[in-house]
Amino acid sequence: MRIAIIGAGATGLAAGYELTRRGHGVTVYERSEEALGGLAGSQTVAGAVIDKFYHHIFTSDADIISLIGEAGLSDSLVWKNAKNGIYCAAASETSSGGRIYPFTSPADLMRFPELSLLSRARTGLAVLRAKSVGDYSRLEDVSARDWLIKTAGRESYDKLWRPLLDSKFGEDADGVGGVWIWNKFKLRGSTRRGAGAESLGYLRGGFGVLYGRLAEIIRSRGGRFMFSEVTSVVAEPGGGLSVTAGGERAEYDKVLFTASPAELCQIAALPPEYAERARAVKHKANVCVTLVTKKRLSDYYWLTVAKPGAPFVLFIEHSNLFPDPSFGERGYIFLSRYLDSSDALFRASDDELAGVFFDCLGGIFPDFTPADVVDYRVHRAEYAQPVAGLRHSERILPPETALGGLYLASMAQIYPEDRGQNYAVASGRAAAGIICGGRTVK
Ligand SMILES: Cc1cc2nc3c(=O)[nH]c(=O)nc-3n(C[C@H](O)[C@H](O)[C@H](O)COP(=O)(O)OP(=O)(O)OC[C@H]3O[C@@H](n4cnc5c(N)ncnc54)[C@H](O)[C@@H]3O)c2cc1C
Repeated sequence: MRIAIIGAGATGLAAGYELTRRGHGVTVYERSEEALGGLAGSQTVAGAVIDKFYHHIFTSDADIISLIGEAGLSDSLVWKNAKNGIYCAAASETSSGGRIYPFTSPADLMRFPELSLLSRARTGLAVLRAKSVGDYSRLEDVSARDWLIKTAGRESYDKLWRPLLDSKFGEDADGVGGVWIWNKFKLRGSTRRGAGAESLGYLRGGFGVLYGRLAEIIRSRGGRFMFSEVTSVVAEPGGGLSVTAGGERAEYDKVLFTASPAELCQIAALPPEYAERARAVKHKANVCVTLVTKKRLSDYYWLTVAKPGAPFVLFIEHSNLFPDPSFGERGYIFLSRYLDSSDALFRASDDELAGVFFDCLGGIFPDFTPADVVDYRVHRAEYAQPVAGLRHSERILPPETALGGLYLASMAQIYPEDRGQNYAVASGRAAAGIICGGRTVK
């Protein structure tokens, strides 16, 4: 079969790898060569190669670990125990004076002084309770907010969980379904060894190394890459589909689209009922600053910033957990914020954005000044995080679209798990299996 894959992110490349393994002729379309790897692609900053958006994997991420092995990269996969924390702003509205608390293990929760002893105990029990839920459908009718207030208590929700939910979903936080938080508790537990720290995995040189290797394998099996934006997918009267990119039209037996359902509607003429469903799943955008500093700012890997009104809500000092000789003494840090793509901050210039972020950073780390900045980059993703609301299972689109021969494998279909490279790889390979006429891959 002649198959077009639109998108060379984790999903598209895993699908291309699987389809060429099965002997099919594949053309992968991506907007530009620099976009290879999609959200999990790499960049070069201050002489070092690092992800554009921070990434790690979990010990339970079997699909990506297996693909890393098949690509011959197992030796580059490193596992480390993360030190996580939470920055709590001072009770008064001053810009400084907050505190950082370790938040890595259950013992850290039990010592967390911002909560009463009762709230700490209730929070621990809530986590255990969530992990014991086998059938997630029970949590489909309740919001994460209501479930947390009921099980962990109001104080715990206000001081701990609300900042965490806000950090990911902003004003959509209240509508996020209970299944999302259930899945987070389950996943984080699965990558923890005993009562200790989480074990997190990273690919030396960034996950872009995996995606570059998959592209090489696809090419070596006769697959092609077209670095141009696809502007239309049309069903041909005689069967098959045509794909147009950069003014060039080519015909295929099947087409797999791997970006958001809303983007698919922009390039394919789909029936209105299907298009309405496709546009119904909201996505949060993300802005992420990669900041290189002369010296390290903390000894944490991951810090949630629980400060109302803070422009970024996650501080990730990547170089603390996954140092690389090319970093030298410098700190490689990500500052991240999920928001709506209509938000002024998403549209702000790189300099404006960096100015606002660095001001806030100085409030958290009083020793930090802009003079410490060696370099920085800003990356924006319009479709960064699907919002899984109540009864989300009813909104999941099937892999077969309303147009014969056109398939969809996107982050928005991953459920009850949340998006992530592991599930992207699994869904890309599963889509390849479906395109070839079966529902299973292995
Ligand atoms: C801030 C952030 C942090 C994350 N952290 C982690 C983490 O720690 N661990 C983890 O495993 N995952 C993490 N993820 C999630 C992970 O990056 C994604 O789940 C995964 O990369 C999605 O891959 P994908 O191929 O499905 O989508 P994408 O990477 O979005 O790829 C889709 C591709 O399609 C292309 N495309 C779209 N339309 C067209 C068109 N018309 N023509 C040509 N090309 C087109 C796009 O350019 C894009 O490259 C994170 C994501 C973000 C945003």
